[in-house]
Amino acid sequence: MRRTWYSELAQFLWIGIVVGLLGALAGHLTLALLVYTLVYLGWYFNNLRRLERWLRLGRKFAPPDARGLWGEVFNGIYRLQQRNRKRRKRLVKLLNRFRETTGAMPDGIIILQPNGGIEWWNEAAERLLRLKYPQDVCQHLNNLIRHPDFVAFINGETDAEDVTIPSPYDAQQLLNIRMIPYGKRQQLVLVRDVTLMERVEQMRRDFVANISHELRTPLTVLSGYIENLQNGEHSRETVQRALAVMAQQSRRMQHLTEDLMLLSNLENRREQRREKVNVAQMLDSLLEEARLVSGERAHVIDLAVDDGLEVLGDPRELDSIFSNLVINAVNYTPAGGEIHIRWHRDEDGGAVFEVTDTGLGIPAHHLPRLTERFYRVDVARSRETGGSGLGLAIVKHALQRLGGRLEIESEVGRGSTFRARFPAEVVVQAPAPEGADELERTA
Ligand code: ADP
Repeated sequence: MRRTWYSELAQFLWIGIVVGLLGALAGHLTLALLVYTLVYLGWYFNNLRRLERWLRLGRKFAPPDARGLWGEVFNGIYRLQQRNRKRRKRLVKLLNRFRETTGAMPDGIIILQPNGGIEWWNEAAERLLRLKYPQDVCQHLNNLIRHPDFVAFINGETDAEDVTIPSPYDAQQLLNIRMIPYGKRQQLVLVRDVTLMERVEQMRRDFVANISHELRTPLTVLSGYIENLQNGEHSRETVQRALAVMAQQSRRMQHLTEDLMLLSNLENRREQRREKVNVAQMLDSLLEEARLVSGERAHVIDLAVDDGLEVLGDPRELDSIFSNLVINAVNYTPAGGEIHIRWHRDEDGGAVFEVTDTGLGIPAHHLPRLTERFYRVDVARSRETGGSGLGLAIVKHALQRLGGRLEIESEVGRGSTFRARFPAEVVVQAPAPEGADELERTA
């Protein structure tokens, strides 16, 4: 550039000198120099005009053709433009990638201006807080979220780093909001949907409270009797009665811990034992057990089984499914009621275990929650029967592990039907004994 500049100057002077000499020879030195200066100025302004025109219109065109210093100026500007264009392209790409990344994030991000007005937000924030563009730009968050805990939080009235509040648009949804200061008095707001986490946490708290509660009652009874027996003399009869109650209470605790272990195994164990289980045989002994539990209440219990229908699964888990449903039917059906147990193929090639009773029935609003751990319709009655409140939770989990499901139909005062459905993959049809593919046993 420097060289071009010198050669341009040299060229101007040389031509000037030559024109001056020629002018002097012709006797018109001043006129020759004036004309030369005017021509040079004309050429100079013409190039200036081309530059201005190119800058105005020709961003996309190549620079005008010029030699010498002007050519260098044009090319220099052109190169600068190209470099800027590349840089801009890179910035746009970066911005797009940033937008895509923040758009894919499940958490809401909001950028606040130093005065607290909203400057920018991502798609998740738009979804969670129903922000609208452009109406909500420059809005203050406490105009959109008026929950007192949030207002106290955003006004700095609490020391907490974050706040959890119900969504202003859906009371069932819980939002956790955190503010992070950055840059020059700017704030980043993170909004997370913590509904599920809070629900799990609540379930954990309920679970611990329920277990403590379940254990406290039998323990109180046991320690009461022990204290009583330790103090003073007691007749043999009193001691026997106390021991019977103590045995019953310890059985209850044992039952509870066994069910808890089974449930936790069902939830934690990945590998599942899969062996061919002869369901008909299992149900035969279950029928005996049901009769024993029924005792003097003399229920009518009948069993209809497809003898050749077997299941690939863990025998203990299958036994839990069948016995929980049958013993529940006995426990929640008044004396003399009927209980029908059926085991047969279903229309999809799977199998169904069905227990129908003519018992108390269950109000419809309890049905969706029946398989929750410790959920009981009638707490007193469940305790009376020694139920742990975990039976149906075990049934549901054990069935889920086999790819099956539990269906419940019930009507208060008329009775209930519990149906455990097993998918075709775990059902095996063994060759049926001659002359009998469905056997009926009635008690
Ligand atoms: P529990 O140990 O209390 O029987 P379950 O999980 O087996 O616990 O059952 C949960 C609740 O469902 C029971 O407390 C009872 O209120 C109700 N229930 C279960 N089976 C029946 C049934 N066959 N008829 C009426 N209510 C039932």
